Amino acid sequence: MASFQSELKALNQPTDRGDGCRVFIETYGCQMNVYDSQAIGGLLDKDGFETADDIFDADVVLLNTCSVRELAEHKIISRVGEIRRQRRNADLPPVTVGICGCMAERLGGELQKGTNRVDLVVGVDNYDKLPGMLSELVTSQSSARRKRTATGHRSDAHYVAPPSLYPVNNSHLVTIHKGCDYKCTYCIVPYTRGPQTEKSPQAILDEIHTLVDSGATEVTLLGQNVTAYNWQKELDFAALLESVSGIDGLERIRFLTGHPKDMHPHTMDAIGSLDKVCPWLHLPIQSGSNAVLKRMKRLYKRDEYLEMVDYARRVIPDVTFSTDIIVGFPGETEEDFQATLEVLSRVKYDQIFSFKYSERPGVPAAKLADDISIDEKKRRLAEVMALQEKTWNVEAAREVGKTWTGIVESAARHPRDSWRVRTPNNRKFVVADGLSSNLFSKNTNHGLKIGDEVSALITGFANTTFLTGE
Ligand code: SF4
Repeated sequence: MASFQSELKALNQPTDRGDGCRVFIETYGCQMNVYDSQAIGGLLDKDGFETADDIFDADVVLLNTCSVRELAEHKIISRVGEIRRQRRNADLPPVTVGICGCMAERLGGELQKGTNRVDLVVGVDNYDKLPGMLSELVTSQSSARRKRTATGHRSDAHYVAPPSLYPVNNSHLVTIHKGCDYKCTYCIVPYTRGPQTEKSPQAILDEIHTLVDSGATEVTLLGQNVTAYNWQKELDFAALLESVSGIDGLERIRFLTGHPKDMHPHTMDAIGSLDKVCPWLHLPIQSGSNAVLKRMKRLYKRDEYLEMVDYARRVIPDVTFSTDIIVGFPGETEEDFQATLEVLSRVKYDQIFSFKYSERPGVPAAKLADDISIDEKKRRLAEVMALQEKTWNVEAAREVGKTWTGIVESAARHPRDSWRVRTPNNRKFVVADGLSSNLFSKNTNHGLKIGDEVSALITGFANTTFLTGE
């Protein structure tokens, strides 16, 4: 397979075609988009474009979008109109607006029609064309500037975010593959992101080495389905974790998202035995009913999922779980729904992301009758959330009085003058910006900073954040 990394070098010799044009990128949706926005920033930077601080400071605004829910798409269309309005109200000239990401891939040229039409549309595998397209657009003298679209999947398109543009919340996102080969019937991803294609292990290791050389200590391996990683059917996700663990200077490895079907015993053995791999599994179950799982084409049964959770608890010390739930999938009976509640009670997740089913045009589930009323979906969602809160409150209370260790990740929003700290198993606690007998930093003598390791006594919790103190 052609390596896009090597092609990128040729495609992206630094040029000055951006000529100081200022670009603001607004990112929506998942962590993959966060990574892609950074990669786009790197591509534009090489070609002489500059980063704008906001839409008022920009010559070009790019919206990197999500298609997972219809509401998300409607918001983007409104946002295009809002950006233009805000610029007009500020007496600024019209701005070039582009749409990137999943919505660009799904709707293509359609986005260049109608009231809130945009100037360019660039799908997930065509970001290397962006600098050229933008340069032509912003330098065109013609009042009727040509509209531009670049979409379509390429198996060789893997973008690499430059270390200087990685987020500073201590975990560096590293995309290891893109797309998905599964066809869960409710999901738009296989259509917007295309089939699964993987970065080579060497490219991943090189990228992480570069990050570590520039000071990173933690990475999050990213993909729609990282546990399905299997480079040329010779090196699977467990083996990749082992290779990444061997990088000197790297201290922690997280990953998102895994598919329950691919969470094999030997993968869990690797997670449990490799000290650098964090013991947190985000494993979307979606439903606790076998009948619904079958209609969703999730490729596992409820008991297989529960066995996998039990196995993980045996071999991965301190492991925690989070999940995604869809309520009101077509044909979901009350009995099916109760089966989902039973799974929640049994697994005792740290966190769930629960949604009412909403139909996406073009996916297989759109052919099924959306036969659960909106009121019933709301009731089921409320019940899921209430049960999760009750279950979590019991689990969280057990942690009070224990001493936890984690890494300072960012300033906390609340309370003031405190830091947010994340444990290896993905629990969050806040600590005041000072030292005391039960709050100490290994790396500093006074005060704290991002990246410090901190231990603290847990004194309580508010929602999913734990509190610490004397
Ligand atoms: S595994 Fe299913 S839900 Fe996840 S990205 Fe692939 S098709 Fe979508």
